[in-house]
Amino acid sequence: SAMREQRIKKTKTVCTFCGVGCSFDVWTKGREILKVEPQIDAPANGISTCIKGKFGWDFVNSEERLTKPLIREGDAFREASWDEALNLIAKKFTEIKTQHGSQALTFISSSKCTNEESYLMQKLARGVIGTNNIDNCSRYCQTPATMGLFRTVGHGGDSGSIKDIEKSELVIVIGSNTSESHPVLATRIKRSHKLHNQKLIVADLRKHEMADRADLFIQPRAGSDLVWLSAVTKYILDKGWADNEFLSTHVNGLEEFTKNLEKFTLEYAEKATGLPQETLVHIAETISQSKSVCVLWAMGVTQHMGGSDTSTAISNLLLVTGNYGRPGVGSYPLRGHNNVQGASDFGSMPDRLPSYEKVSDEKVRAKYEQAWGVKIPEEPGLNNHEMVQGIMDGNVKAMYLKGEDMGIVDSNINHVHAAYEKLDFFVVQDLFLTRTAEFADVVLPASPSLEKEGTFTNTERRIQRLYQVLEPLGDSRPDWQIIQDIANRLGAGWNYKHPSDIMEEAAQLAPLFAGVSYERLEGYKSLQWPVAPDGTDTPVLFTDGFPFDDRKAKLHPVDWTEPKEFGEEYDIHVNNGRLLEHFHEGNMTYKSEGITSKTPNTFLEISHDLAKERGIKDGTLVRLSSPYGSVKVHCLITDRVKGKEVYLPMNDSGEASINLLTSSYSDKDTDTPAYKETSAKLEILQVE
Ligand code: SF4
Repeated sequence: SAMREQRIKKTKTVCTFCGVGCSFDVWTKGREILKVEPQIDAPANGISTCIKGKFGWDFVNSEERLTKPLIREGDAFREASWDEALNLIAKKFTEIKTQHGSQALTFISSSKCTNEESYLMQKLARGVIGTNNIDNCSRYCQTPATMGLFRTVGHGGDSGSIKDIEKSELVIVIGSNTSESHPVLATRIKRSHKLHNQKLIVADLRKHEMADRADLFIQPRAGSDLVWLSAVTKYILDKGWADNEFLSTHVNGLEEFTKNLEKFTLEYAEKATGLPQETLVHIAETISQSKSVCVLWAMGVTQHMGGSDTSTAISNLLLVTGNYGRPGVGSYPLRGHNNVQGASDFGSMPDRLPSYEKVSDEKVRAKYEQAWGVKIPEEPGLNNHEMVQGIMDGNVKAMYLKGEDMGIVDSNINHVHAAYEKLDFFVVQDLFLTRTAEFADVVLPASPSLEKEGTFTNTERRIQRLYQVLEPLGDSRPDWQIIQDIANRLGAGWNYKHPSDIMEEAAQLAPLFAGVSYERLEGYKSLQWPVAPDGTDTPVLFTDGFPFDDRKAKLHPVDWTEPKEFGEEYDIHVNNGRLLEHFHEGNMTYKSEGITSKTPNTFLEISHDLAKERGIKDGTLVRLSSPYGSVKVHCLITDRVKGKEVYLPMNDSGEASINLLTSSYSDKDTDTPAYKETSAKLEILQVE
């Protein structure tokens, strides 16, 4: 009723803008969001939030929200009823499956959606359609970190809690613009750096805020982190500074590993990275003299041809120095989206079922086959990257994609768009008519986090509940309900009444979540996986060994993959990443007035040297061209970048979209695009 509408309401939710996983109360009156109020008992953030969490919510009431299903008619869309749209999807999926087989269908889950929705999406792919062709956007960011950790320590998440970082004597940040990408986490580091004399080493191409604060800031050549990490590890072993007791009790493979390190001498590393030998020695000394070391890393490490290997090198260094299994040490791959961790945890991966159990493992398959009453293919499915290739090759005919603007976010988007044009049937489910949705045959209106219940898992493996703040706008619906309706139209007979029913099923099947339940997650309560059946969770991993048969970790030898060269004429290296104010490609934050007013346009950061050499001024319009496409953007001269390094923020979806320049080269172990290995030539179009 109208009276009720006017009542002021306070509801707990979890932020949807990054992997830190801040939780807070949202005050509303009708659909109006009055304020966001953090609570002292919020486990990841306490009373802190950043600008996105505090002011980023207008998008939920945006006029541009999709409120009705859309069906393509020629070059345009027309509104349709849910029945018509869902029936069409069921008919098309069935036809394509009958004509071309299950493997012609592909599914992409979202790192913005809940754990329960990721679980259902992979269940739809595997349990209803019969394909492992399911992936999520962690393929674009953090899968290499997960791979590096699987190989060495056996679990793919942060090894400790965010608050434990404060206990660390030395924090090393590699390829992460932490204060803009993970603001509240960065605040904790800044505080302990100031108050507890914590040391900070930052390695990056760009002199961002964390670099400014660091005790030591190094700028290794683009794509050469593996080399300095390996040289430092070798130096520590050579000097006898390794943690020998830890190595002999908890780690396998030292001999082979040491042998492989032989080439990483200081001389070699200096040549490859451009870092002076004294600096490398100083880093080795600082690490060895610190009782506790943790390493934080992000896309600057992972989005390379050797992203998995560099992540592995980080973990190797931590093993050699005994920095696992206690609070304040270990590996912290910083997850980007709010639920990057959860999307993979709950099985939206082509080779892994929930809990990272392998799809190739007969026993694991048998467990799910029995529970779901279906047959799951033994072969891993296609990842995102392979799906695009599969469409081009004519093997993939349909795609169902939810909550992912892949047509902007994937690399080499001109190529991706050409693939979309070839699809027989394309379903996109999102809040807005995104660039990707423009290619769809059916567009389904979904509800954002504030309009539904479920759980998210943050970067520290912490599962938290979100409660429904608002009713779904118009005819939009929560993703889990839409997936269930599609499954049932295909004859699945699912009957989930609430996301808690989905979690209950997942907890029964997936060992990491055995003790997870909505009761144990009530209010601000949370659980960090693995969660034992009695509800005991795991704030710090590996306190009693590593999850391998003999409980020992593995040193994994890796070699350097030199960054991809596009050819001599492409002489400008185009680094790319986030801005504090925006969320990824910006499709939610650009629709939030409080944020757009602060940073309306994308700009290209260039160095004073380059500006001088080319006669560029602040505001000059330039064109950058790579072999794959070109962008037009205005320049901003800054000392954050040096030489021929430029920085293009990734929040533009138009003429300055970074992925018009990026290639289809990818990490050799996970197919994560090598976004950071992008070069271009620069032309001046217009001096302001
Ligand atoms: Fe949201 Fe991340 Fe900001 Fe926290 S730090 S309020 S999770 S965007």
